[in-house]
This record gives sequence, C-alpha cells and structure tokens, in this order.
Amino acid sequence: MLTCKKSYRDIPFAHRQHLHEDHCALIHGHNWGITLTFACSETDTNGFVVDFGRLKYLKTWIDQHLDHACLFNQDDPETAALLANAGDLFKPYILPNCSCEGVAQHLHGIFDQMVRAETSGRVWITEIEVVEDSKNSAAYRPE
Ligand SMILES: [Zn+2]
Repeated sequence: MLTCKKSYRDIPFAHRQHLHEDHCALIHGHNWGITLTFACSETDTNGFVVDFGRLKYLKTWIDQHLDHACLFNQDDPETAALLANAGDLFKPYILPNCSCEGVAQHLHGIFDQMVRAETSGRVWITEIEVVEDSKNSAAYRPE
C-alpha cells in the first residue's frame, strides 16, 4: 500500500464543548489544520496516489462548511436558541461532536466517500489528523 498526505492549514473556525466543566464550554476559536492520508493499491498513470492538483473539491468543501464557521455538537441544548437569534452572525455547522477527535472522525466519513467517488474506488483515506492551533491534535483512523 502506498500513501501520501495533503494538509490544509490555518482554517479559522469556532466551537464549544457544552459538557466541558471549564472554559471549553465557551464559544471560542482556533486556527485549525487538517491532514489527510490517502492510500491506494495501484497508483495512477503518473505514479501518484492522488494528483494534488485535482483535490480542489476538498478545499471547496472546507471553505464552504468550515472556514469562519461555528461548530456545535448536535446534542448541544443551546444551539437552537443561539441560531434562532443569530441572523448572519454565525455560519453554523452541526456535527455529532466538535472536539478535535470528533471533527477528525466526522471528516473521515465525508472525505473518504468523496475521494473514493472521485477516483472510482482506487483511493481511500486511511487517516485524518486535525490540529487545533499549533499544540493539540487528534487523529481518526478506521479499524
Ligand atoms: Zn477549542
């Protein structure tokens, strides 16, 4: 199996962990990074796992859904009230869990399907690492 990695850096978005007993329960932002590890059994005609020049659909998805967004856990009891009165103040994105770990797992579910579809099943994603600012990270790697 061959792999290669693509990183997207300095993506600003906010989140909050409503069950956290400290300051993580407050809405706050980070500059996030996302690193995708692609894998294949057979390379393309250029010898690439993926052609880095043909991944614009991933950047577009990140720009549309995460860039300058505010992420909420789907069971956050405050989300509905916040968004009802927010007008254009939020670009909400709701997912099962907006921790670093939760974002990594959630993005794997989306990006793996997109990459498989774009490559007719030749390529898949073995790992997604999500970095919060420069110090904290988590990765999701399916079993
Ligand atoms: Zn945070």
